[in-house]
Amino acid sequence: MWRATILTLFPEMFPGPLGLSLAGDGLARGLWSLEARNIREHGLGRHRAVDDTPAGGGPGMVMRADVLAAAIDAAAPQGDARPRLVMSPRGAPLTQSRVRALVEGEGAVILCGRFEGVDERIIEARALEEVSIGDYVLSGGEIAAMALVDACVRLLPGIMGESASGEEESFESGLLEYPQYTRPRDFEGRAIPDILLCGDHAKIAKWRHERALELTRARRPDLLNDRVRETRAEKGAST
Ligand code: SAM
Repeated sequence: MWRATILTLFPEMFPGPLGLSLAGDGLARGLWSLEARNIREHGLGRHRAVDDTPAGGGPGMVMRADVLAAAIDAAAPQGDARPRLVMSPRGAPLTQSRVRALVEGEGAVILCGRFEGVDERIIEARALEEVSIGDYVLSGGEIAAMALVDACVRLLPGIMGESASGEEESFESGLLEYPQYTRPRDFEGRAIPDILLCGDHAKIAKWRHERALELTRARRPDLLNDRVRETRAEKGAST
């Protein structure tokens, strides 16, 4: 079973939205598991302190490496092969291919930062992978961790009704998804494109591919460049 372990100062935030809809249904059916552990249990002294002032000065507080090490070691003892992630705006941007790779594994142990973030030394000492969900700063890693877990869980076997619906979505082909329509046929004078109602699946697939390319070229040309690079690398590797 795919297991998500979240290390947080706010375990009461979980499962939160992960307890609803597709993810929540899968959780209730035992298709994946979620454990939110309170880092403060490993805090120091009478006040269970988890943070301290930044070395060198500056605003805010930093989460202590010794406290985080104790929390990580208790949650994922030796032999636990799951990747250890720390949510961080400095991390590698989360991608659909990284999500696919995580889903192939046994789950993930995810550390949620607060305050100014975590002491740098814990990242190396516990081989943490820094993951970002975008170029903006949240007040804590919990919402970022939820986004990551949601992206993973929806791909697990048995979660989505039609498994094909996962494969056609944005990023799966390296392109943004084509536009979607449903009833009514006419909405405030805007009609569904005729081709989608013609019944010819080959023509529809071609139209959708062209729209996906068009949208990607207009909105995310960087994705097309990535595709070209990957294709070149694949050709290079096979010659
Ligand atoms: N001082 C940090 C910096 O400038 O990079 C920001 C710390 S932020 C206020 C607190 C925590 O929120 C971070 O340690 C991280 O866990 C989480 N966080 C904030 N933005 C994030 C993002 N874009 N992606 C992933 N995690 C994020």
